[in-house]
Amino acid sequence: MNDNAAHPDSPGDGTRAVRAGLPEPVKHEPTLPGPVFAAHFHLPGEVSGPYSYGRDGNPTWTLLERAIGELEAPGAGDTETLVFASGMAAISAVLFSQLKTGDIVVLPSDGYQALPLARAQLEAFGIEVRTAPTGGDAQLDVLDGAKLLWIESPSNPGLDVCDIRRLVEEAHARGALVAVDNTLATPLGQRPLELGADFAVASGTKQLSGHGDVLLGYVVGRAGEPMDAVRRWRKIVGAIPGPMEAWLAHRSIATLPLRVDRQNATALAVAEALRDRPEVSGLRYPGLPDDPSHEVAARQMRRFGCVVSFTLPTREHAERFLAALRLVEDATSFGGVRSTAERRGRWGGDAVPDGFIRMSVGAEDAEDLVADVLRALNESAESVG
Ligand SMILES: *Cc1c(COP(=O)(O)O)cnc(C)c1O
Repeated sequence: MNDNAAHPDSPGDGTRAVRAGLPEPVKHEPTLPGPVFAAHFHLPGEVSGPYSYGRDGNPTWTLLERAIGELEAPGAGDTETLVFASGMAAISAVLFSQLKTGDIVVLPSDGYQALPLARAQLEAFGIEVRTAPTGGDAQLDVLDGAKLLWIESPSNPGLDVCDIRRLVEEAHARGALVAVDNTLATPLGQRPLELGADFAVASGTKQLSGHGDVLLGYVVGRAGEPMDAVRRWRKIVGAIPGPMEAWLAHRSIATLPLRVDRQNATALAVAEALRDRPEVSGLRYPGLPDDPSHEVAARQMRRFGCVVSFTLPTREHAERFLAALRLVEDATSFGGVRSTAERRGRWGGDAVPDGFIRMSVGAEDAEDLVADVLRALNESAESVG
């Protein structure tokens, strides 16, 4: 999928990504300056300028923040981007900077597995937490009186999708702010701020950096008091990325469109191959035309992600399948160039069947990967005896 527009003000995603966040060319300087390792910066006299102490700001973050902002919110006007040590650092920064005792927050009941931990901490601070599933826009039913609505669409690992624009309009009409976890979609798949959200929040650990070697998170929001509070929170908590991680992520963004297009196209091919298998149930991929989420997803997403989920009949069947795969690592996380899959139930916490598999499709050749998946399915079925 490509949205190339031959106009200098609205370049295609590939053109935008290879230049995202780069400084103006300076003779003899590198195109993407290397990581700046500094706990403090020269600061004679009055405190002024952007860089004084390494927890407040770093030039390597600044370039990465510009790059992410250009992808998440091109033309969204006055926005700000803040990078964090991890996705959870970014999520916590929004939750804990926006909410105080007595406030109400609505979380998804089927979201990322650390959200229940955040819930317990929020409740310990006297914040009321309500949850509802992502599918069917069910969060609408519990919005009254909320200060913040937290959306995760597509949700991880169930891959349900909600109508973000609709939820944002209803939330704003009731005076609530809206944050969208954009990890699974990436900014090339979905732009929450364009759909009206106040914050786009994500783990950069997944497809954004894409090589399984970096933890990172970010928050993008319209400039103003809510984002000032997020920035203050980062300074107080110190949940900051190292310059090396920030630089690796920035370097990786140049290939994000290549990786996303390749991985997502192969994810669709894998989903289509799984659709015809009798032992597979509950197959979900928002890009499949007959997926329950497809209609809403197609309205608000430009690409449908690299994650496919499905269920095999039993835990043992799923374990045999994972062990039989040769090109797919049995590992958690998703979005990397090497395919991974796992039996999600091994973690506990997610309301998924024992045989539920979350598969992240990498950058291998589609024919090889589909063949590996089908062979592993055949082998794991045969050994039932
Ligand atoms: C992984 C993930 C997170 C947490 O990100 P970390 O970088 O691991 O802290 C948050 N939300 C979603 C949807 C994720 O997949």
